[in-house]
Amino acid sequence: MDKELLAQLKERLIMTKKTLEKRIKERNEKVKGKFKGDVGDSSLYIYNRETLYSITEREREELRDVNDALYRIKNNTYGICERCGAEISRERLLLKPTARFCAKCRREIDGDSK
Ligand SMILES: [Zn+2]
Repeated sequence: MDKELLAQLKERLIMTKKTLEKRIKERNEKVKGKFKGDVGDSSLYIYNRETLYSITEREREELRDVNDALYRIKNNTYGICERCGAEISRERLLLKPTARFCAKCRREIDGDSK
């Protein structure tokens, strides 16, 4: 893979990682602060808590994908499809820097799961 593209994607991944870490941390602090000593409507409390958890959960998954991608960059396996070993296209990586599969495999995997 061309070095310039790799450097560009790596930078984007690191930025995403920082943003996600910051967001997760801030939300955790907000949740703690918000619900400390709050004896209001308990169903509302549960609703908010679960909503926040599901958002945080999604962000954690995203963060895990980003970390995986950074790990692959370190190991020189980045940009290679984990399923068929083909190179993932530049366009696809620019669109989704955490992509683990080439477009063809992604389609097949999505198709299989239906
Ligand atoms: Zn593939």
